[in-house]
Amino acid sequence: MRKQYLHLSAYPCDACAGPVIAGWMGVRENAISKETDIRQVGAICLSCGHRQCAATEPARARYLMPMEWAPADAVKASRLTSVFVEALNPAELH
Ligand SMILES: [Zn+2]
Repeated sequence: MRKQYLHLSAYPCDACAGPVIAGWMGVRENAISKETDIRQVGAICLSCGHRQCAATEPARARYLMPMEWAPADAVKASRLTSVFVEALNPAELH
């Protein structure tokens, strides 16, 4: 079954040495397949707000366990309003 995963990594901020948290998403088509459709979500220092997208040598990023994350379009589809709007305006959306 197709599932989306959120990955998080942490590394020191260049500006203040605080923790930067970076996230990216990957999709796995089934339990044994490799992740595809990998895309960045964003990165930000928790201390100063600096958006640093990668660790600067010699610092290394440390990775957290990936967690299952519902795809954004699945969340949107579950909203009653979008279903209602689609029912009212089928021609505009297709
Ligand atoms: Zn910082």
